[in-house]
Amino acid sequence: MGRTKNVGSIGRYGARYGAAPRKKALLIEKRMKALHRCPRCRTPGALKRISIGIWTCKKCGYKFTGGAWIPRTMLGKTFAPEELKKMGLK
Ligand SMILES: [Zn+2]
Repeated sequence: MGRTKNVGSIGRYGARYGAAPRKKALLIEKRMKALHRCPRCRTPGALKRISIGIWTCKKCGYKFTGGAWIPRTMLGKTFAPEELKKMGLK
């Protein structure tokens, strides 16, 4: 095996953060790519990110703020800065 380990979409972060935080970051990236569900009409896949942290639903027109990359309701919570640090994302 060569020096470059392929660990999916997260590989670009390199070995800087160690294995565990990268696994967590990979999970977050998977969520980013997953279909998000509208917090109002529950339609999956209708959410569109119109700006960083601002999401809108194509189905019911609901507009809300969420995480920069993930609608907050998908995670059920937002990440505190120290959690992001723990995950090696900051
Ligand atoms: Zn909706």
